[in-house]
Amino acid sequence: MTIKDITTYLEGFAPLAYQESYDNAGLIVGDASTEVKGVLVTLDSTEEVIDEAIAKGCNLVVAHHPIIFKGLKKLTGKNYIERTIIKAIKNDVAIYATHTNLDSVVGGVNFKIAEKLKLEKVKILAPKSEVLMKLIVFVPVYNTKEVLNALHAAGAGVIGNYSHASFRSEGTGAFRPNEKANPTIGAANVDEEVHENRVEVIFPAYLKNQVLAAMHRTHIYEEVAHDIIMLENQNTEVGSGIIGELSEPISETDFLAYLKQNMGVSVIRHTRLLNKPIRRVAVCGGSGGFLLGDAIGQAADVFITADYKYHEFFDADKRIIIADIGHYESEQYTKELLKDYICKKFTNFAVHLSETPTNPINYYY
Ligand SMILES: [Zn+2]
Repeated sequence: MTIKDITTYLEGFAPLAYQESYDNAGLIVGDASTEVKGVLVTLDSTEEVIDEAIAKGCNLVVAHHPIIFKGLKKLTGKNYIERTIIKAIKNDVAIYATHTNLDSVVGGVNFKIAEKLKLEKVKILAPKSEVLMKLIVFVPVYNTKEVLNALHAAGAGVIGNYSHASFRSEGTGAFRPNEKANPTIGAANVDEEVHENRVEVIFPAYLKNQVLAAMHRTHIYEEVAHDIIMLENQNTEVGSGIIGELSEPISETDFLAYLKQNMGVSVIRHTRLLNKPIRRVAVCGGSGGFLLGDAIGQAADVFITADYKYHEFFDADKRIIIADIGHYESEQYTKELLKDYICKKFTNFAVHLSETPTNPINYYY
């Protein structure tokens, strides 16, 4: 197994195309063709984590947070980022990060938090739009099945829990080849009419090249008439945060105690209690303040996230309770999520959960 085998598998779950523009997810250090000896899963890839990987015989660190966000112009070891990279390279340890792309998919970071809180009816809080495309292609009726099979194999036609979804309507395609054409049907300078299907499928925009390649490979025409359209539709399977429900409403103080217990946190910073029961819970692991409007808009009773600043707490404005449980704390179970996912497929090398504490924030109480 190579690093590429693992990263391709991880990207099947959390495609790199779903990372935010400021992000730097993907293989950060290392050669993708290297054989994997062992994997260490961590939230942050610090120097100590690289030491741990070396000690445990792991040559791949799979992290949630990318160690490099911005371009490095020099590598002299003047700060912890450069020292981590130098140590990783010197010791043949590769570093891979799956960050905001893992935040954005069903089953990702926030779904793990929902699982810890035993939330039900969990869905994405702010689904992304403009991540879906539609292909409309005109295919001779007898060629339709072959083209559709190839489109589906390339990932087209998935809507939620449904695959192989398409629509087709029959009609007449008309054309006149010129003398330079090499038509599958018809002859030069003769008007031709063919019984065709108009086939429509949707697909995630990042699969565009492979979907079009599948179409061209199987369509029997020299020139394939087709339209590609970017859709404004939301993709409910991709986006930020989640919202779900407790099996039954509980009081605010009971909920805070439950949150503290289930997320293993020592302290919760929260806005004023509103003296009403908690049922609907919005969650965004890490810095999720930008989702407050979505959480209020979807009638969440509480919004669990991290990295809130003093003035931002006022935005709760008696409409919701903001509960800041800490960035590290909110995402700490991401390691479990990644380990379980890797172990589901690969059994020929060890996958370790990092034991190095990487939370830079300590509490004195
Ligand atoms: Zn984070």
